[in-house]
Amino acid sequence: MTVALLGFGWDKSSSYARGPALAPPIIRSLLFSDASSAYSLSGINVREVISAFNFPELPEDAADCRKVINDAVSEAIQSGAQPLSLGGDHSISYPILCALKQAYGPVNVLHIDAHPDLYDEFEGDRYSHACPFARAIETGCIANLVQVGIRSASPAQRAFGNRHGVVMLGADAVDQIPYAKLTAPLYITIDLDGLDPAFAPGVSHPEPGGLSTRDVLSIFSRLEAAPIGADVVELNPERDVNLATAMVAARLVKELLAMLYVKQ
Ligand code: MN
Ligand code: MN
Repeated sequence: MTVALLGFGWDKSSSYARGPALAPPIIRSLLFSDASSAYSLSGINVREVISAFNFPELPEDAADCRKVINDAVSEAIQSGAQPLSLGGDHSISYPILCALKQAYGPVNVLHIDAHPDLYDEFEGDRYSHACPFARAIETGCIANLVQVGIRSASPAQRAFGNRHGVVMLGADAVDQIPYAKLTAPLYITIDLDGLDPAFAPGVSHPEPGGLSTRDVLSIFSRLEAAPIGADVVELNPERDVNLATAMVAARLVKELLAMLYVKQ
């Protein structure tokens, strides 16, 4: 199975700073840049596993935008490709998970982030980038949710997580990840602010004390199930330094492309 690379440059559901709308074409260009090779750590030419690109124009209205995202992911799955989405802010994960639910039923989710994104609403918006996993749990899109790198969780989000069996691990608890919960169908969502700002400074909400790039790659290598989709979100090019965060995003996207590719 090949991979459809999707770009959703949406940042109007961000609570603080705009910028992630600019990220998808930057990550895409780094994937094809002569500055690094086309190969994943496992030796797969990741440029060759992409069978389709879809970076749609997004409407102004958030609900309309979620529909475009949902439809693009459904279309990729129906064409026989596995969807890898480039954000955009983290609000894009909710319509993606809705499309996955239609195809696979509830999925298990590995979620790398500094924040649980489990607010019931944020500044009056129930579809804010602070809320996607609350919506996804409520609508039955998620079976097990395992969050890693969390270091900015409000009491209300912790209570929501406890009520719904969410595993919420800090960046110091990588060795406690319950891999047995991350079985098929597995989805991976990477908010780049889950990494330490030393590795990924180009995000809207930097939280020191996070994961290293190596931590994330090691987590990938320990997953037992092959993912059926993934996203990499919250790159804010306006806050990046010498493309440092964009290059981390491209590295992680390369590894995810290799993981999503299934040899026929
Ligand atoms: Mn997030
Ligand atoms: Mn975050």
